[in-house]
Amino acid sequence: MKNSRERNNRKTFLFPIIALFSLTFSAVLALIMVGGDETVYYLKQLNFVPDEKTVCIDPGHGGESSGAVLGSRYEKDDNLRLSLLVRDILTDRGYTVVMTRDKDSDVSLSERCRIANKARASLFVSIHRNSSSSSSATGMEMWVHSTKPTDDALLAQNILDCLDVAGISQNRGIHSGYREGADKNYYINRNTKMPSVLAEIGFISNTDDNKVFDESLEKYAKAIADGIEMTLKEMNGA
Ligand SMILES: [Zn+2]
Repeated sequence: MKNSRERNNRKTFLFPIIALFSLTFSAVLALIMVGGDETVYYLKQLNFVPDEKTVCIDPGHGGESSGAVLGSRYEKDDNLRLSLLVRDILTDRGYTVVMTRDKDSDVSLSERCRIANKARASLFVSIHRNSSSSSSATGMEMWVHSTKPTDDALLAQNILDCLDVAGISQNRGIHSGYREGADKNYYINRNTKMPSVLAEIGFISNTDDNKVFDESLEKYAKAIADGIEMTLKEMNGA
């Protein structure tokens, strides 16, 4: 008798907890289903306190992942060359720069986001080079999350404006979502907790863009650093 009463008591005690847990779980699930990416974007930033002086630079690809290729030219190398210069400029200006890679190594997309989130970076900039089957495609473009969050769009605009002043073949503007579907997102834009942008710095498939890239490497690095610094100041009300 005693044992069955104890069991009943435990059941009475557990029921409200299970009910509350189920309700909360259903509510979050419903929010994600109704709000879609907007809710996911909001949820990812919950409880995140960024460090104002820390930024994360992400040189796209690396190691086994070459990215786009033109002959013996690999996107991963161009991305790293430019990213290291951006790092040096920002470090000289007193910022803490966290790199997702600083050599030719394989780093998964989830690891890249984990590095940035763990470092509590204020901004995340992923540096890539574009490619097209049409060798005449040229210019630079920025990619932000499909919901076009204010600070992400600001970061993209500032970097692109600074690059435009430095001299680019064509300004292809700011895009949201993913190349193969506006409702989808680049992994890094979806999984970093801070404002982020994926920057396509010219077409590796275009020899003129490559020539300008090589000649303007330092100017481009300074432009990206300027865009980042401008955004940090605007975000922090300086
Ligand atoms: Zn790439």
